[in-house]
Amino acid sequence: MRAMKAGAKTEGLSLDTLAVHAGQPPDPTSGAVMTPIVLSSTFAQRAPGEHQGFEYGRSGNPTRRALEACVAALEGGRHGFAFSSGLGAETTLLTLLRTGDHVLCGDDVYGGTFRLLDKVLAPLGISSSFVDLSDLGRVRDAFRPNTRMVWLETPTNPLLKIFDIGALASLARDRGALVVVDNTFATPVLQSPLALGATAVVHSTTKYLNGHSDVIGGAVVTSDAELAERIGFQQNAIGAVPSPFDCYLVLRGIKTLGLRVRQASYTAAMIADKLSRHPQVERVIYPGLKSHPGHALATQQMTGYGGMISFVVKGGLPHASAFLSALEIFSCAESLGGVESLAEHPAIMTHASIPEAQRRALGIDDGLVRLSIGVEAADDLWTDVERALKRAAG
Ligand SMILES: *Cc1c(COP(=O)(O)O)cnc(C)c1O
Repeated sequence: MRAMKAGAKTEGLSLDTLAVHAGQPPDPTSGAVMTPIVLSSTFAQRAPGEHQGFEYGRSGNPTRRALEACVAALEGGRHGFAFSSGLGAETTLLTLLRTGDHVLCGDDVYGGTFRLLDKVLAPLGISSSFVDLSDLGRVRDAFRPNTRMVWLETPTNPLLKIFDIGALASLARDRGALVVVDNTFATPVLQSPLALGATAVVHSTTKYLNGHSDVIGGAVVTSDAELAERIGFQQNAIGAVPSPFDCYLVLRGIKTLGLRVRQASYTAAMIADKLSRHPQVERVIYPGLKSHPGHALATQQMTGYGGMISFVVKGGLPHASAFLSALEIFSCAESLGGVESLAEHPAIMTHASIPEAQRRALGIDDGLVRLSIGVEAADDLWTDVERALKRAAG
């Protein structure tokens, strides 16, 4: 496994192989096959300034370095950085901007990203516009001379809109702006933003990468050496770094990333299809359905449609709420991407901070329910959904 050392060439190997090995050669001091959790906050130097690559735990840690190399390899990027949360990763990246700069952001982004841009960066003089990125004409008009960054998610949350990463990246490149893609929903199993022209990828590793709902974490990957240098500096200067134990858990979770995401996508496709033919369901939003407006683009830019489904229950809030309470295998909870299936009500739970008028304009109805499909048996999950729909109807 010499080829798997951090920074080694990983081209030609498939994601499933990289997930198990990239950045994780057997430990040279003991032969340990699994990456040791190195808790030490400081590292001895042979002479002042003469060290083995690690000085102080905020600046660098061997367990974290293994995770950073692994995530970089999965995204097909040269440089990876791990953080204490997805928002820690985002904040670190956004501090590369200066007062007077402008961010062009998708209008259906993670609520925490919106809050960060709107409540934290705007008062510092870094402005943002929130635009429907599926309309490239509107995107062109939304660029300003001071637009330094385009920020997008695809598929989006909770409406699973699909945006054209390649087209947006080329618009941004022509105007000298960086393109950041939040790849949390798609994961590198289904989508490779860097290969499509993005400058950097961000992750909430809390979701699919860790995959077991027991870590809060984030990551950034880029192949741009100059940008990587600046991100590395900010990572150390700001200090939103993950603990070695959390790095170990995410590394462990990543080993089964491909298996989990493919299984969740398989089950989600089956459930979305059945839901779309169910009399109590008004509308199903799943990129794998031909009825989805982004279906063709998703087919072209992704290798699968993912484990997230949104759908509108007939009868609005009372029925959606009764459905969520009646589920037995799915837990009613926020978050996504774990081995366990979750269901939630965006208008009341994850997206409650968005003003009602804006929620409606985006299409977040009171009957809208979001499912995160886990790795349980597909038939058991469908039985649970069908039974809960029946109970919701009274
Ligand atoms: C959860 C999430 C985040 C924020 O990540 P945290 O780890 O909760 O800080 C960012 N983007 C997306 C798409 C998410 O789902």
